Amino acid sequence: MSGAALNGIEVIVIGAGAAGLGAAARLALAGVGVRIVEARDRVGGRAHTLLDAPYPLDLGCGWLHSADRNPWTQIAAAAGLTIDKTVPPWTRQSMDLGFSRADQDAFERASAAFHARLEAIDPSASDVAAASLLEPGGRWNPLLDAESSFMNGAELDCVSAQDLCRYSDSGVNWRVREGYGALIAAQAAGLPLSLGCAVTLIDWRDRRPRVETTQGSLRADAVIVTAPSSLIAAEAIRFRPELPDKVAAASMLPLGLADKLVMTIAAPESLPADGHLFGDPNRTATASYHLRPFGRPLIEAFFGGRLAHDLEAAGPGAFFDFASAELAGLFGACIRARLRPLIETRWASDAFARGSYSYALPGHADARARLAAPVGGRLFFAGEACSQRAFTTAHGAYLTGLEAAEQVILQHGAGSGSSQESITS
Ligand SMILES: Cc1cc2nc3c(=O)[nH]c(=O)nc-3n(C[C@H](O)[C@H](O)[C@H](O)COP(=O)(O)OP(=O)(O)OC[C@H]3O[C@@H](n4cnc5c(N)ncnc54)[C@H](O)[C@@H]3O)c2cc1C
Repeated sequence: MSGAALNGIEVIVIGAGAAGLGAAARLALAGVGVRIVEARDRVGGRAHTLLDAPYPLDLGCGWLHSADRNPWTQIAAAAGLTIDKTVPPWTRQSMDLGFSRADQDAFERASAAFHARLEAIDPSASDVAAASLLEPGGRWNPLLDAESSFMNGAELDCVSAQDLCRYSDSGVNWRVREGYGALIAAQAAGLPLSLGCAVTLIDWRDRRPRVETTQGSLRADAVIVTAPSSLIAAEAIRFRPELPDKVAAASMLPLGLADKLVMTIAAPESLPADGHLFGDPNRTATASYHLRPFGRPLIEAFFGGRLAHDLEAAGPGAFFDFASAELAGLFGACIRARLRPLIETRWASDAFARGSYSYALPGHADARARLAAPVGGRLFFAGEACSQRAFTTAHGAYLTGLEAAEQVILQHGAGSGSSQESITS
């Protein structure tokens, strides 16, 4: 441990994702002794840019949502990275392919009406599934459901309306050309970190909790837990004494599933740069295709919800088979020969994520606050699932990390008389 510790306090941060790195950096800045323990052999968590590909490929987060107020935008700019402000193509259908302009307009109206009903929800009313806000028998319900599967990783019948209503977005979406995951991972530089070090138990009976890991045990004055809600719900990390309320809250915040498939496309000039297609605007089980992101000769297919689960379960190649069939339906069979799979994700099968991002089950919008609440002045919680207004996102995760760090600093601030022992294995 180095640096002048704040009253000698020491903190273990579990997880080197956006939340954990944000928390650790804030604590280090305050002079708090900190160590990050990370189960994977890399940092970033669900933020992961693949660098050994022809282009940096974001396998997790890619968009700076609410980019005009997203702290990662400033961090990226300060690091000299390239912010791309091209307007996202998600709502447009390039060349009106398989989706007439009149139908696109009708869908846009249906979507605006759905979101207006969502925003009009009385916050004190009892919670319902967001699907109950769909117009009964509505022509565009399947596509609205597909959008939910992309944004929430789950269809609207699974998702709390009150929780969705709390999500706050400025509507500005930018990208980092060098990779959002690379930006987040770079924040680990200079922070004390143990990789390949999975936490199995947090024993917090003593004033200084003991953290058991696959590389031995550590003690500190406080622990910040940033593991995904899926792992807390599954008790992959156990607590002694047990924390049934935390496990119950995390269980109400399952991780939805979103997966990506990146394909190369030969003769790319026939497609618009930063174009977009829904594979089939009449179905929920359809993918969203980003054509030539950054003008590159690639197509990024995005799968959500039940479709993503089914295709992951079907095994390697299933995403590509599905995407080539949908694209052949739009362009004709000749497109198949121009497509090659480059990389596909399998976030549900990822042992340290078990999904992509959290949604709240109907009736459980308040689970986020319960998951985020500190325990006993020494256990603190952060991560995207703890965010009330920016859940599912990398900036939401980061802000909860900062908040947990501030809570630790407040708790252990002047006069707390903390121990001077070091974090030891
Ligand atoms: C396909 C996909 C697309 C996405 N797109 C976007 C997007 O465009 N924009 C956006 O803002 N967000 C997006 N996200 C979501 C965003 O990536 C996440 O919300 C964010 O990265 C979560 O950060 P976190 O710190 O909360 O969790 P994580 O990144 O999951 O970090 C938690 C860390 O804890 C570690 N861990 C787990 N268990 C243990 C253990 N037992 N011991 C020690 N360490 C452990 C994990 O390995 C991980 O590194 C996307 C995610 C996916 C999967």
